[in-house]
Amino acid sequence: MMITSTTRRDWLALAGSALLAPLALADGAAPLGRVRRRLFGSPVELLSAAPAHGALRTVGAGLQQIDARWNAWKPGELGQLNRQLRTGRTATPSPELAAMIRSAAVLERLSAGLFNPAIGGLVGAWGFHDDELRPGHRPAPAALASWTDAAPSLAQLEWRGPQLRCHNPRLQLDFGAYAKGVAADWALDRLRALGVADAVVNLGGNLAAMGQAPGRPWRVGIRDPDSDNVAPGWMASLETRGREAVVTSGTYERWRELDGERAAHILDPHSGHPAQALVSVTVVHPSAALADAAATALLVAGPQRWAAVAERLGVDQVLVIDPQRRALATDRLMARLLPATAEWQRRLRRA
Ligand code: AMP
Ligand code: MG
Repeated sequence: MMITSTTRRDWLALAGSALLAPLALADGAAPLGRVRRRLFGSPVELLSAAPAHGALRTVGAGLQQIDARWNAWKPGELGQLNRQLRTGRTATPSPELAAMIRSAAVLERLSAGLFNPAIGGLVGAWGFHDDELRPGHRPAPAALASWTDAAPSLAQLEWRGPQLRCHNPRLQLDFGAYAKGVAADWALDRLRALGVADAVVNLGGNLAAMGQAPGRPWRVGIRDPDSDNVAPGWMASLETRGREAVVTSGTYERWRELDGERAAHILDPHSGHPAQALVSVTVVHPSAALADAAATALLVAGPQRWAAVAERLGVDQVLVIDPQRRALATDRLMARLLPATAEWQRRLRRA
């Protein structure tokens, strides 16, 4: 999902799931500050309603550091922590990483383990710990069972003050479902502290906004799952209010072709297989971190369970799209969504 417009003339357009499309500014709109990078395996964009290039660059550099430290498959703080935990050694994560682990542990519990950042080994077994997702073969059932049987969970981490240890060698941290949300919240906090009141940070579709676009609210597009990554289209849009995140988890975002079939990157920690009963889940919430964890958990929860899990996680603005392209939105989100086409208007229903 990204910033867009239903009438492109009126708002600014920003695409980002795989490649950034050019930023289009409305005629006569006030200048915007903008910084673009490629981080967290996705295009990242920071925008401010007024020129604020220094602040945007500072925060962009901070995001780059976060990415380098917390990437699940590149050398960095997280990789080092995983090595220490695997060998049963005591580790002392940085206060920022420790805070992220602790808050994620609460969300793992509330989601009944559907959001589980301890399943890095399983994610790696499906070949998603790579920048490039090449075709290949499905992992052997025995290999998957070796991860699911070990049932790694953040609840198995033993804290002693700032120190951490774990007795499950199959626990491997992967914050792919959460770190972008945490980073988006951090970015808005930093921008605010640097005097920027009106800004958007878009971390590969995890979008957080505060204030307004020049003269009007920020308008965010929710991706049409059938549109392509290069020129994404929208199924609906909404205007953000105050400080708010709009986060989408989609099976179309990262996937590999394995034995001729698509395997998507969001895994059911219990079965060990990609979750495929929903195509995408969008969560709108003031906290990008919570929205990020929730979107992943609800996608795994599937059509029967997502509403109950959303309630447990305390998110009440949710949109889910199933493989038949039926779209269901909770009352609170439905009231704000503007379908992008007559076809999506027909498909969109109250949950
Ligand atoms: P997201 O796009 O936020 O749903 O995050 C998906 C990423 O999180 C994947 O690429 C994996 O790195 C990781 N992941 C996959 N399945 C899960 C899960 N059930 N819980 C937590 N993280 C997951
Ligand atoms: Mg997520």
